[in-house]
Amino acid sequence: MSDTIENRLFQNRYIVDTGQPHIRVTPHETPSEALQSMVHVCPAGCYSKNEHGQVEIVADGCMECGTCRVVCQDTGEIEWSYPRGGFGVLFKFG
Ligand code: SF4
Repeated sequence: MSDTIENRLFQNRYIVDTGQPHIRVTPHETPSEALQSMVHVCPAGCYSKNEHGQVEIVADGCMECGTCRVVCQDTGEIEWSYPRGGFGVLFKFG
């Protein structure tokens, strides 16, 4: 197997905490530029735009890098916390 970033990330596992996402996007009409940037910046591809131009998140696969938390900290559009114990990403090292 080639050693691409995608192949390395595929080695990680993720345990979904059904019904309790650890990141939420607050309801909005028009997303800020910061929030819109997350569609392209999130390394796990968790953010997307819906047909109304609003930004949504599916936190499954989140690597807990904290980028969205930092980028959107001044806009108040994201509620961010770590997953509950036993849930979230399981990194494979080596
Ligand atoms: S913490 Fe990182 S991986 Fe998780 S949703 Fe935010 S930007 Fe994406």
